[in-house]
Amino acid sequence: MSNSTKLLRGTRKLVPVYCNQCVCGPDLLNVEVENGIAIRVEPNFGIGTAHPAEGRVCIKAYGIVQKTNNPNRITRPMKRTNPQKGRDHDPGFVEISWDEAFSIVAARMNAIREKGLTDEEGYPRVAASFGGGGTPTRYMGSFPAFLSSWGPIDFGFGSGQGAKCYHSEHLYGEFWHRAFTVTVDSPNTNYIINLGNNQEASSGVTGVWRQADARVRGLKRVQVEPHLSVTGALSAEWVPIKPKTDSAFLYAVIHRILYELDWKSVCDVRFLAEEVIPPFLT
Ligand code: SF4
Repeated sequence: MSNSTKLLRGTRKLVPVYCNQCVCGPDLLNVEVENGIAIRVEPNFGIGTAHPAEGRVCIKAYGIVQKTNNPNRITRPMKRTNPQKGRDHDPGFVEISWDEAFSIVAARMNAIREKGLTDEEGYPRVAASFGGGGTPTRYMGSFPAFLSSWGPIDFGFGSGQGAKCYHSEHLYGEFWHRAFTVTVDSPNTNYIINLGNNQEASSGVTGVWRQADARVRGLKRVQVEPHLSVTGALSAEWVPIKPKTDSAFLYAVIHRILYELDWKSVCDVRFLAEEVIPPFLT
């Protein structure tokens, strides 16, 4: 199988596409399509050499077909009809038309604009959450442009996204490497202290594959986390740290490197001096 559509029996065909469902991809797969409907997915081994995980996808990708064809999938706007909220109150969601949905939202936003975009304390009156801390919104076509043109919006309570996003990784990734995406340099690393991150569950098929290869090569991974995750179980060592003490642990490691060891022989000084910007070296 190559990277082109392959005809199967009758109207069935295999279409090579990619999965980026959880943003750990893109990972390559073939989708079997019958009469225009996706019915099955499979890895795309034919294009494996172009893909770090050799054309494999993870188990989540197999669920996309069920997700797409689920009869309970919500495809139209829903309006809450029961103003009472609580565990024992059915929200009474009913399906409404797109026109009605747009009219409701537009009327509310116009009323807020009339009142003022910020409140007495200077905080935005509109808050929005799209199931993510920012990245998903950027994929929404003209939606980001609309949000920018609106004015101040509080995105503070939006969080959680995909399988892997810890948010701070993007912030520090941009500080350190000028890169939004951060990934472990598994093929060139011999020792990893892994804090909290459940690598085997959240790094996608490529991340899991690369680190599995590196462990076979001899990479030692020390997993620091209170509970024994699948990543801890597959690591050379598990350090069952107390919850919320990661920072203290890291300060202790830094202290040991800087004050108890000869840091110039322990650290890759050339890398630190030339490829990142540590304040204490400049
Ligand atoms: S890790 Fe799985 S769900 Fe995520 S993009 Fe890859 S194949 Fe898709």
